[in-house]
Amino acid sequence: MAFTIIDKERCKGCSLCVGACPKKVLEIGTESNKSGYYTAVVVAPEKCIGCAFCGYMCPDCCITVDK
Ligand code: SF4
Ligand code: SF4
Repeated sequence: MAFTIIDKERCKGCSLCVGACPKKVLEIGTESNKSGYYTAVVVAPEKCIGCAFCGYMCPDCCITVDK
């Protein structure tokens, strides 16, 4: 099983990671961070295959994938 960790305080809520994930593990959440952005959240961690597409797509390098 792989784990995706999002640094919420660096996230700007652009949603690129959500679109990049082939397993629909990520969504934009309903809580904002300290900068006022609604951030990506992990909603289905059990589906993550560790492909790291989300991390490659993130322009702010907020995603860590741990296999
Ligand atoms: S590592 Fe792959 S499957 Fe897991 S959240 Fe990122 S894009 Fe989705
Ligand atoms: S790609 Fe990065 S900045 Fe954009 S929503 Fe995902 S984690 Fe946040």
